[in-house]
Amino acid sequence: MSARVDVLVVGAGPGGMAAATVAAEAGRRVCLVDGGTAPGGQIWRGYSTPSASRSPHGREFVRWSERLQRSGCAVWQGWQVVDHPAEGVLRVERDGECRDVGYERLILATGARERFLPFPGWTLPGVMGAGGVQALMKAGLEARGRRVVVAGSGPLLLAVAAGLHDAGATVAGIYEQAAAGRLARFALRMLRHPGKLAEGAGYRLKTRKAAYRTGAWVVRAEGKDRVERVTVTDGRREWQVECDWLACGFHLVPNLELPLLLGCSVAGGYVAVDALQQSSVANVACVGELTGIGGLEKALAEGQIAGWAAAGREAQARAMTAEAGRGRRFGAELEAAFALREELRTLADAETVVCRCEDVPYGALAGKVGWREAKLHTRCGMGACQGRVCGAVTEFLFGWDAKSGRPPIYPALMSTMAEGAEETKAAAQRR
Ligand SMILES: Cc1cc2nc3c(=O)[nH]c(=O)nc-3n(C[C@H](O)[C@H](O)[C@H](O)COP(=O)(O)OP(=O)(O)OC[C@H]3O[C@@H](n4cnc5c(N)ncnc54)[C@H](O)[C@@H]3O)c2cc1C
Repeated sequence: MSARVDVLVVGAGPGGMAAATVAAEAGRRVCLVDGGTAPGGQIWRGYSTPSASRSPHGREFVRWSERLQRSGCAVWQGWQVVDHPAEGVLRVERDGECRDVGYERLILATGARERFLPFPGWTLPGVMGAGGVQALMKAGLEARGRRVVVAGSGPLLLAVAAGLHDAGATVAGIYEQAAAGRLARFALRMLRHPGKLAEGAGYRLKTRKAAYRTGAWVVRAEGKDRVERVTVTDGRREWQVECDWLACGFHLVPNLELPLLLGCSVAGGYVAVDALQQSSVANVACVGELTGIGGLEKALAEGQIAGWAAAGREAQARAMTAEAGRGRRFGAELEAAFALREELRTLADAETVVCRCEDVPYGALAGKVGWREAKLHTRCGMGACQGRVCGAVTEFLFGWDAKSGRPPIYPALMSTMAEGAEETKAAAQRR
């Protein structure tokens, strides 16, 4: 075994950072493993302590990264968990090196990814995920002078539009598929979450020169070699908007592969947990977006609950449950407000590619009875992303269950899967 710890935490977003920090502060030997280059997850991607105070939610980032550093927790960045080779062991890989990490308690905080929906032209260069554009800009993509349409669904659209504005792009329009009535009810409920309301209002203020249309969605992207214009509809009429980029995403879906590999029960699309974040599998807790898309505060509260509970500090864990409950209620309100409309199921035509890894068009999938048949007959979901993109698409388009927890949960070297870390192999043989 490369390492053995009391508490292993997977995912260094806010949920995992909070869980690892409090468990280490309570005196447990903790290892925090994350596939990215630095702690922060999605919301704090690219943040660093000196510059973070000028960024949204930067103060929380500084507070939690400083606490994490002081806590004595071992932080393994760049290590991707790919397998669960034996009871109480996870296998991680980085740059061709493989390690097995043994644990007494496991906390999963693997977050969420964007949901994409296919429409004619969505594979053209210049069409990107809304969160994808945000991530690329944080990695140095130059947006100055670009004309960008932001579309899809969810609160991320406004955050991305504001980021584009700050980076010198022209936001050519923000198109949210949710109807105005739903969003008005959501805004009223947000009076109970004044911080979130102020955040959204701040983003909108920055992008006030751009049209914000509710009940509107992109039906087509067109251009010669790359996107040059998109066609938008409100269900009654269609119009075109010229653009250099389309940033388009439809809210988020949880990264369930690792919980499923471990056997955690899933209900309503999320990992089922009790008040202390314990899943259906003994000694495995799940936090953050895995248990419901609910934002930063929910991830931090749930992370602390799981961290305290893993350290045997139940009273401290229970003291955070009211805050986590508030986060969960906010998540439920998000889900209701940004529920996807029926019309989005009919955007793709027969030639529209659904599985981008294996180039499988909609026409080849329509009529199949389920995900398994689609995979066997068309190779849909069998490419490099293993259905991470098209799985959620087919769940929405056809009502299939495309969730999977088969190893390797991320592309891994054959040697990692075949040989594993020598000591785990030896231990398995001894048993
Ligand atoms: C693309 C995107 C952009 C977002 N932008 C914003 C924003 O601007 N504002 C906002 O309020 N909210 C944003 N969110 C939502 C925000 O991420 C959440 O509200 C919250 O921060 C979730 O925290 P978390 O700890 O649950 O997960 P995350 O922050 O998603 O962290 C999960 C971590 O797990 C790691 N991981 C996953 N699988 C593995 C594995 N197998 N092995 C190792 N590591 C793994 C990932 O590398 C990641 O660092 C965004 C979400 C996404 C998906």
